[in-house]
Amino acid sequence: MSEYRMLINGRLVSAEIHTDVINPANEKAIASCPRASVEQLNEAVAAAKAAGPAWAATTIEHRRSALLKLADALHAKREEFSRLLTQEQGKPLAEATAEVDYTEDFIRHFAGLDLPMKVIEENDVRRVELHRKPLGVVAVIIPWNFPVFIIAFKLPMALLAGNTVVMKPAPTTPLTALKFGELCAEIFPPGVVNIIADDNDLGSLLTKHSDIAKISFTGSTATGKKVMASAAESIKRVTLELGGNDAGIVLDDADPKAAAPGIFAGAFTNAGQVCIALKRLYVHESVYDAVCDELMKLANEAVVDDGLKQGAQVGPLQNRMQYEKVKGFLDDARKDGRIVAGGEIPDRPGFFVRPTIVRDIEDGSRLVDDEQFGPILPLIKYRDAEDALARANASPYGLGASVWSSDMDRAYDLAVRLEAGTVWINKHFEVGPNIPFGGAKMSGLGVEFAEEGLAEFTQVRVVNIAI
Ligand code: NAD
Repeated sequence: MSEYRMLINGRLVSAEIHTDVINPANEKAIASCPRASVEQLNEAVAAAKAAGPAWAATTIEHRRSALLKLADALHAKREEFSRLLTQEQGKPLAEATAEVDYTEDFIRHFAGLDLPMKVIEENDVRRVELHRKPLGVVAVIIPWNFPVFIIAFKLPMALLAGNTVVMKPAPTTPLTALKFGELCAEIFPPGVVNIIADDNDLGSLLTKHSDIAKISFTGSTATGKKVMASAAESIKRVTLELGGNDAGIVLDDADPKAAAPGIFAGAFTNAGQVCIALKRLYVHESVYDAVCDELMKLANEAVVDDGLKQGAQVGPLQNRMQYEKVKGFLDDARKDGRIVAGGEIPDRPGFFVRPTIVRDIEDGSRLVDDEQFGPILPLIKYRDAEDALARANASPYGLGASVWSSDMDRAYDLAVRLEAGTVWINKHFEVGPNIPFGGAKMSGLGVEFAEEGLAEFTQVRVVNIAI
């Protein structure tokens, strides 16, 4: 087994406590992972604080070139990262490889952004300038569904803006993050990037720490609320990317055969463990049976297997807790609707659940109203598109949403009225480094990506000069 170490103050270090990381495809230990002590967490924050002024004083060109080196280093280890990602997270190797490639692309794109000083006004009376300054130490907290890609949402932006970082992966998927630390150790001065692992016990200490200036968090809405509360004490900046219950609306003029593959991918990629997965589908009564049948076919054809096996299309759930939770949602599906594909638990080790299509189910069932975060898609029949829109919007979440139709005007009219951070037409879940991404309502606060996302890692400083 390889040895994994954390990155604290430029050194790769072990810990007194280690716990196993489990491969969700076979429930066997892949590696033993160091888990930081409270002292090590404090050391990481102190190192980031001490490294702050010198890093903030570097030019943006210098920081840009360090990020490009990081992208190159990741590229050189593409296969190693992809295999490890499949082993710790469960997703099929092709998806893992795509995740590593996206990570590299996003780092490169963000490295190309700029933070120029802007002159807001210049006349006989005054000159007003807007500068964007680093905030200080940024706490980066990562969930287990995209343990590599979500690093790219946060770390490069924080560093480019001149901040230093203490990053903490999720306890069940720490290995790729620690490998990422090995790359950072070769590129950044001591203290600029620190990466610690925990047993789900250090997140709150990190977010409460008085030397943290900003928290960039991706995870559940329940934890996001705690993060926001702990930021209040010292008015820390927060960006929260939280849970979702994305609705799709299939209009009566949609072509079921043409729409089904996009709907299926939107719901079942990464075994449904995607914040912006399609989690409830409202289908017009005139195409309801046809859409159910098309999705049923795709679900029955899907190859569910260990992600390292050639041809696997759907891997296991990432961890036992999520597996048990999803099995609970299957009980709801049986009680409140009719399962027409999947539903069974394969008789083998690992946290596998077959892609499951549930029809004849209504709002009010837990499977429709809550975030299942697993491979189960409920299909709800509707008659009136305005009613479907109202039901789609009647959720405390608002991350993504989609409309499926062959009439662009009708689809557009609904799309702009869906209460979500992103609304797609005839596709679901597509993000890009140049497209701001964030949640409405209880799905988040602030945005990531693009200039808008970079701005969230800065403090505005206005310099107003009398002429
Ligand atoms: P989670 O909230 O349980 O954990 C996320 C991270 O927070 C982990 O690193 C965890 O150790 C840490 N943490 C736990 N308690 C903490 C605390 N009190 N303070 C600070 N940090 C703490 O989420 P999860 O189960 O790992 O991830 C799944 C959830 O993440 C889903 O709800 C999903 O929708 C959401 N998610 C959202 C986005 C998005 O961009 N909006 C992206 C991916 C996942």
